[in-house]
Amino acid sequence: MFDNKNFWVYIETREDGSAKNGGLELLGQARVMADQVNEEVIALIVGKNVDKAIEQVKKSGATSAITITGDLYAEYNTDVYTNAIVQTVNEYQPNVILISATSQGRDLGPRMSSRLHTGLTADCTALAFDVEKKEVQWTRPAFGGNLMATIICAEHRPQMGTVRPGVFEKQEYEISPNFEVITKDIDFPQEKILSRIVEVIVDEDAGYVDLEGAEIIVSGGRGIGKPENFKLIEELAEVLGGTVGSSRAAVDAGWISHAHQVGQTGKTVGPKVYIACGISGQIQHLAGMSGSDVIIAINKDENAPIFRVADYGIVGDLLTIVPKLTERIKKKKKM
Ligand SMILES: Cc1cc2nc3c(=O)[nH]c(=O)nc-3n(C[C@H](O)[C@H](O)[C@H](O)COP(=O)(O)OP(=O)(O)OC[C@H]3O[C@@H](n4cnc5c(N)ncnc54)[C@H](O)[C@@H]3O)c2cc1C
Repeated sequence: MFDNKNFWVYIETREDGSAKNGGLELLGQARVMADQVNEEVIALIVGKNVDKAIEQVKKSGATSAITITGDLYAEYNTDVYTNAIVQTVNEYQPNVILISATSQGRDLGPRMSSRLHTGLTADCTALAFDVEKKEVQWTRPAFGGNLMATIICAEHRPQMGTVRPGVFEKQEYEISPNFEVITKDIDFPQEKILSRIVEVIVDEDAGYVDLEGAEIIVSGGRGIGKPENFKLIEELAEVLGGTVGSSRAAVDAGWISHAHQVGQTGKTVGPKVYIACGISGQIQHLAGMSGSDVIIAINKDENAPIFRVADYGIVGDLLTIVPKLTERIKKKKKM
């Protein structure tokens, strides 16, 4: 048996000190598990200024926060962040650490787990909890997404995992009456910083594709035939106030950027409505969108696997159906 206690969630922050959604989503999930064993959910927030993030975590399920702040933490740096977090983890000995599988989380998680001599299940899409053993059951796609593997960390603590943003919804909680903030001031010698950020190149396109936050997504796949036909998908998305998504086949063909890709190696989405146009519905695509509230599929092959998960299916040529749908919705909006 281990003495480790409490559930920690690493909260990634923006420049203005606010928290990114991925961490906030995990607080709710941590709370569901922690409540079963009467333990705390601690938000671990690192950054130069974390005031906004503290206010956000309070309402999203954290029962307390530990902050590591100062100029040293103004920008993410692997060496600096790993050192400070590992030191803090060693001091408090949490049972579980959840990290959002963003590019930062994917860099930080393995570094931490290696230094802490524990395991890390990366890129999870579902979590369960064994109350008796206080053990998280981490589920993630394996063998190219052809099966889902559930992994446990039986012999080491803390138990660690990264979870894809968008897998869980952000939850709202009453602010805990005992909420406290522990502030850590941890220095790190400049000469020990082995990696530095030389330049940040922003992918302009990626910045504008908020698939994880979208309520309506219209996605195009190989079935759209050629890149110009994405215009039809864009028009339908526009008239619905939605966002354009795609399958990997369309991305690999160079018809649209990876920022739009939904699925195992793209984004995990959970809109109210997901319209899949010319997408067959391979398991790797479903891994990213099957949590949508309502799925509408348009495909000319009535046996396409997408129809097995769809709530509404239209069998036919999308090149005729999509423009008609767009026109119909436009007319309806004018009425
Ligand atoms: C490790 C790994 C990770 C992967 N990650 C992802 C991922 O993140 N996301 C992802 O999407 N895929 C991913 N894939 C790829 C995945 O296996 C499929 O190859 C891909 O999803 C297929 O894309 P598609 O449905 O657009 O194309 P296809 O499977 O070729 O399907 C095209 C569909 O369009 C229909 N169609 C054709 N013409 C028309 C028309 N005129 N009107 C209506 N329907 C039409 C066809 O009937 C067909 O069903 C991954 C694969 C691997 C191995």
